Amino acid sequence: MIPSATAFEAKTRWSEGLVQGATGIPSGRLRGRRALVTGASRGIGRAIALCLAEAGADVAINYRSSEENAELLARRIDDLGVRTWTYPADVSDGEQTRAMQRQISRYFGRVDVLVNNAGINIDRFFSKMDGASWEKVMDVNLNGVYNCTTAFLDDVLHSPHGRIINITSIVGQMGNIGQVNYAASKAGVIGMTKALARELARSNVTVNAVAPGFIETDMVAGMPKEVRDKVIAQIPLKRLGRPEEVAKAVEFLASDDASYITGHVLSINGGLYI
Ligand code: NAP
Repeated sequence: MIPSATAFEAKTRWSEGLVQGATGIPSGRLRGRRALVTGASRGIGRAIALCLAEAGADVAINYRSSEENAELLARRIDDLGVRTWTYPADVSDGEQTRAMQRQISRYFGRVDVLVNNAGINIDRFFSKMDGASWEKVMDVNLNGVYNCTTAFLDDVLHSPHGRIINITSIVGQMGNIGQVNYAASKAGVIGMTKALARELARSNVTVNAVAPGFIETDMVAGMPKEVRDKVIAQIPLKRLGRPEEVAKAVEFLASDDASYITGHVLSINGGLYI
């Protein structure tokens, strides 16, 4: 069961960086920036949080229920000498995301880089898909991006380096059997990214999406071996991707090196969809 917003606040964890064992402030290209990564306790989000911290950013770690994983990641980030903060919130709940923004703003400061990564899948053929499976996936994958983006909009608008980076999927670009709900949610994220990029350009905030193909995380771990082998056979680079390979693209989009890129969907898929 997901705890209430109040219980969430009690569970937040704050670190000043440069704690015992810290190795010193990294001198990477994101030094001085503050980032929030949603769904950062595992998989791609975890890799993104670590990669941004290695590049010098202070990183807030959002998760839904994997407290221990989030704590372990925070300790790892502490050791890099940047500040970190863990915050459990269900991104599909507008009140919880607003509470997260208030707490982060109070203790961590304004967020410059928002990475909307949290996502789920509930796969079945459309003929067997009930309304609850449709709504749950839309609530987390699309409404979650809306909730976090509205909650942190003022943060990025007031940042001289405002960035919104949405993690969509190859499935939102090409569709996939058994994933009509997931494809619709991820295609929605692409549309939202492009429209918002146009709206926020006047404020010098860039909005981009990253579209991973099949990446080695818990999300694909449940795939039967024969399906996995079939997928790999279709990928020109003949392997699944690694979370770190997605994270590097996010780090680039968060940096000044990507200052003239907005409304873009960056595919990280080994050539599966070109
Ligand atoms: P994952 O390993 O299943 O991890 C999902 C993360 O999202 C976890 O940290 C989880 O937190 C968090 N989360 C789930 N529901 C949440 C909610 N309602 N509120 C807040 N956090 C929530 O997934 P992944 O493979 O890393 O996927 C990350 C993103 O990449 C997703 O948007 C996914 O759609 C996208 N993607 C993945 C692949 C792939 O092949 N893996 C391909 C394309 C796109 P808890 O640990 O607390 O549950």
